[in-house]
Amino acid sequence: MIEENVKKILEELPPGVELMAAAKSRTPKEILRAAESGVKIIGENYVQEALTAFDVVGPLVKWHFIGHLQRNKVKKAVQIFDMIETVDSLELAGEIDKRCSQYGRIMPVLVEINSGREPQKYGVLPEEAESLIHEILPLQNVKVEGLMTMGPMFGDPEDARPFFVETRKIFEKLRPLSLPGVEMKYLSMGMTNSYKVAVEEGANIVRIGTKIFGPRE
Ligand SMILES: *Cc1c(COP(=O)(O)O)cnc(C)c1O
Repeated sequence: MIEENVKKILEELPPGVELMAAAKSRTPKEILRAAESGVKIIGENYVQEALTAFDVVGPLVKWHFIGHLQRNKVKKAVQIFDMIETVDSLELAGEIDKRCSQYGRIMPVLVEINSGREPQKYGVLPEEAESLIHEILPLQNVKVEGLMTMGPMFGDPEDARPFFVETRKIFEKLRPLSLPGVEMKYLSMGMTNSYKVAVEEGANIVRIGTKIFGPRE
C-alpha cells in the first residue's frame, strides 16, 4: 500500500517539488517502508517519536521537524533534524542557534506563517515574517531557507488557495532581497487534501501523511 501510494504521488508531482512523508503516529516500520519506496524527506511533529523512528530509519532520508518545537526539546532536535520548518519566534531561533553552536552545526530553518490568522495556530502573521527574518539574521548557526504554512483546513481544497497565494507572495517579496545568510529556496505548503493546489501556487515541498500511510487512528 505505502509503496504504491508513494509511487503514485511521485509520478504526478512536477519536477522540482519534493515529497515529504508527514509521519506523526506512524511506526518506524511504516516510515522505513516509505523511505524504501522513494520518499527522501520525513516530517515529524514530535521529537520523541522522531528519535524512535530515527533509530530504525537513520540518515537514509532527510528529517524535517514540522510540529511546535518547545525550547526544552531543542537540544535533542538539533541532533537529528536536517531542517526545522516551524520557526516562529526569535526565542526559538535563538535556542536553536545556541544548541547548534555547541554541536558546531548550522541549522536550516523555515519561518512558519500563520496564513489563516488563526489565533489557536502557531506561526507568525504574514506581515511579521520579514521583521522576524531580520531578527534571525545575526544568528550564525541558523540559516533561513524559506517559508512554511499550514493554512486553515477545508473540505474543498480550493478554499485553501488564498492562504497559499498569500504565503507565496511573502516568499517572492523576500527572495530578491538577498539578505545575508538567507536563501529563499523552499516553500513548504500543502497536505493530503490540498497539495495539488499548493503546488499550483508554488510549493516545492509538500507534506503528505494520509495519502501515503492511510487514515490515522
Ligand atoms: C499531519 C501533518 C501533515 C499531513 O497531513 P495529512 O492530511 O495526513 O496529509 C502536514 N503537515 C503538518 C504540519 C502536519 O502536522
